Amino acid sequence: MKQSQLFTKTRKEAPKDEESKNAELLIKGGFIHKEMAGVYSYLPLGLKVLKNIEGIIRSEMDAIGGTEMRTSVIQSNGTEIGLSFTNEEAYSNIMKQYVSSYKDLPIYPYDFKNIFRNETRSKSGIMRGREFYWKALYSFSRDEAQHEEFYEKSKQAYKNIFQKAGIGHLTYMTFASGGSFSKFSHEFQTVTGAGEDTIYIDESKGIAVNKEVYTDEVLADLGIDKEKLVEQRAVEVGNIFSLSTKFSEPFDLTYTDEAGEQKLVVMGSYGIGLGRLMGTIVEVLSDDNGIIWPESVAPFRVHILELGDSEEVLKEAETLYAALASAGIETLYDDRMEMSAGEKFADADLLGMPYRVVVSARSLKENGVEVKKRTEEKGQIMTQDELLHFLKTKE
Ligand code: ATP
Ligand code: MG
Repeated sequence: MKQSQLFTKTRKEAPKDEESKNAELLIKGGFIHKEMAGVYSYLPLGLKVLKNIEGIIRSEMDAIGGTEMRTSVIQSNGTEIGLSFTNEEAYSNIMKQYVSSYKDLPIYPYDFKNIFRNETRSKSGIMRGREFYWKALYSFSRDEAQHEEFYEKSKQAYKNIFQKAGIGHLTYMTFASGGSFSKFSHEFQTVTGAGEDTIYIDESKGIAVNKEVYTDEVLADLGIDKEKLVEQRAVEVGNIFSLSTKFSEPFDLTYTDEAGEQKLVVMGSYGIGLGRLMGTIVEVLSDDNGIIWPESVAPFRVHILELGDSEEVLKEAETLYAALASAGIETLYDDRMEMSAGEKFADADLLGMPYRVVVSARSLKENGVEVKKRTEEKGQIMTQDELLHFLKTKE
């Protein structure tokens, strides 16, 4: 995409009432627009990131047998109707129509949708919205054993998601409160000062315990040596929960087993907040100059900066842009005229695409373009062919 066609522009300041780093950087970069506390619109660049995250989650959910659907945002609750704040009831109601025999189970439907909650602490930018976009999957199994089998698979799928999204190295599967039906739930907590939770990490086992369940007895149970734990602030980017028959009982969600007996369906829930995940990536992967998107979620992989506006430079930049497009490499092309090199560099750092490619009189004199990773200080000169080869081999 040509940057001259992007209606959003970077700005120097975020709204005064914005306290969080993620929203500040995302607003300055023109990724999101703040409507009010805890409510944000996603602008073109922000939506691209959200969709990339959605793609990562979808592929992992489909790989463990998930089937995507979409429940309505408006839901009835007794005599009242309102906006969805969770999905268990909607799913239980729908599945009642389709589940009658053991042959109908297990099933793993899921959806992406907007959720509404009257959060009182909306000070964390897109990490805690009053309106937010999430993925929720519900598992419907015949019994505890079948449920456990899927629950274990979902743990690995969640690990893959956070790994692919670039925050795997900071994310710990964390034992948390299981509610009335199971001993523990599992949260996926990413270490960041911007988080609202406190966790205790056992680095050798690669797991953590949430402060809310942290007792000597729980550490015995999990075989964790207390001495080794490190306390950290963290944010819950996702969670998985065994619900047992908490919802199937009141909704009378039953099936007939092989012996002809009526049994209650065993359920689990598996959530991820996409805005929360996006905000977390910004919190943990940014520097003083701006955002550092992992390649997997970046709105564009390459950012071409054309400097100097000379005929020769323009021609070279246009050719490169066309070559990258035909190679299927997503590219943002800063073709804006009469902007200083300094302004273009500052914008590129703020927007945070993984590779910056400068086309200038100086780079042409060296017979190429200057390629620099967002994470590196120095770039290197490459010919267009070398750049294409370099990007292809990095895929
Ligand atoms: P928290 O304790 O942080 O409020 P929760 O326990 O209420 O989270 P769930 O209701 O289980 O979370 O929702 C599933 C997932 O949705 C969470 O793991 C988180 O990633 C995301 N999420 C929850 N609340 C919000 C919110 N207000 N804004 C953005 N994402 C959210
Ligand atoms: Mg909550």
